[in-house]
Amino acid sequence: MTATLIDGKARAARLKADVATAVAELAAGPGVQPGLAVVLVGNDPASEVYVASKVRDTAAAGMRSFEHRLAADTPEAELLALVERLNRDDAVDGILVQMPLPRHIDTDRVVSGIDPAKDVDGLTPWNAGLLVLGKPGLVPCTPQGCVILAKEAVGSLSGLNAVVVGRSILVGKPVALLLQSADATVTMAHSRTRDLPAVCRAADVLVVAAGRPELVRGDWVKPGACVIDVGINRVPAPDKGEGKTRLVGDVAFEEARAVAGSITPVPGGVGPMTIACLLANTVVAACRRRGHAVPAVLGR
Ligand code: NDP
Repeated sequence: MTATLIDGKARAARLKADVATAVAELAAGPGVQPGLAVVLVGNDPASEVYVASKVRDTAAAGMRSFEHRLAADTPEAELLALVERLNRDDAVDGILVQMPLPRHIDTDRVVSGIDPAKDVDGLTPWNAGLLVLGKPGLVPCTPQGCVILAKEAVGSLSGLNAVVVGRSILVGKPVALLLQSADATVTMAHSRTRDLPAVCRAADVLVVAAGRPELVRGDWVKPGACVIDVGINRVPAPDKGEGKTRLVGDVAFEEARAVAGSITPVPGGVGPMTIACLLANTVVAACRRRGHAVPAVLGR
């Protein structure tokens, strides 16, 4: 058996098209144009690429995009002051501070400084709390993308056994909470889990966010399971030439593909969903902040 590929690029393109439709509706109706501010501190090459894509896709969806680039040695107080200005700026509906921040800056303090109503990354304690309470808030983008892809592959998650490998604030914990809200029976695994292969083998839906290249092997996967691979790892690829690298996930793709029912590729799986969900969150934030209904096309 060979697993069906879950095409994150195609699903993300559909979600982006829905966002563009929602933005057009808001322009034609209440006359609102959602705006997303992206803040980049320093010049980490991967972050530069992410920020460029976010800025481009925001504009492509018809939203206003505000880009703030600060030097790597920007004092924390200056960044906090910028966040505060963006909190007060009525044209800004979403604020995204690109991670990782330089070491001299306290990430938690910066995240906590973002107005929860504009926290389109869903990382503030307020939005994290709403997620735990099962109340509507702004939900972190990558976890949201994982659950959309899992539903795309298997339909209803109700009653399924879901295993999440990883318990980070950014991915593992929110994914587990979202799966639980969708009525899956959720197990969270981490670096201290005993017999991780056996735990994974019990999963109808296996979400892996460990940051360990090809940690999950084919014989850890239950036949027919849905595998969502969040990992993005750059590893040496001597077969492609000296010094060359390639991207791999946290799942040994070819092995798992032979056993699973459906699986996300890396790249082209969860990754593209993250920006699409960010755009959707910005529209949701704009509507809630301004007291308008979220266009039905976004299904909230
Ligand atoms: P973290 O390093 O913050 O967390 C990793 C988690 O995996 C921890 O909970 C850790 O356990 C667990 N873990 C590590 N090693 C093992 C192991 N051998 N067995 C079981 N569990 C293990 O990573 P993130 O959650 O931030 O990211 C995870 C991956 O997802 C990374 O590859 C990252 O690049 C990728 N990512 C992809 C995104 C996308 O858009 N596609 C967005 C965000 C992240 P413990 O808590 O015990 O230490």
